[in-house]
Amino acid sequence: MAYDDGNVFARILRGEIPCKKVFEDDHVLAFHDINPQAKTHVLLIPKGRYVSLDDFSASASDAEIAALMRAVGRLGRDLGVAATGYRFLGNHGPDAHQEVAHFHVHLFGGQDLGRMLSPPRV
Ligand code: 5GP
Repeated sequence: MAYDDGNVFARILRGEIPCKKVFEDDHVLAFHDINPQAKTHVLLIPKGRYVSLDDFSASASDAEIAALMRAVGRLGRDLGVAATGYRFLGNHGPDAHQEVAHFHVHLFGGQDLGRMLSPPRV
């Protein structure tokens, strides 16, 4: 799938749509999800034009990939959820219900998050 510069996260990166920013460096922007699914629900996105995890893992530089992973860990600590636990999740494609076609990962925490998939589907 080709990258669409009109997607909502591209617009956030360009400053056309506001966000509640919690972290930024050369490669990553992180902000609160507009429709939180947990007490803490933050999105981390690369600044590069990657459609999905499949695209990012295949095409991003080692520096971009490392920056994203470092940011997840740093935010877990900075947001105060590392001690009690958090979940980090990336949806790729239709089966995972990826809604926004700019690669992003979710960081959930601040409460008991239950089992990985609920209800079980297999
Ligand atoms: P996905 O299902 O693609 O993994 O998740 C997309 C996420 O983006 C959803 O949790 C949704 O609430 C969030 N989202 C969609 N539009 C906006 C927006 O304009 N601002 C913010 N902060 N989050 C958004």
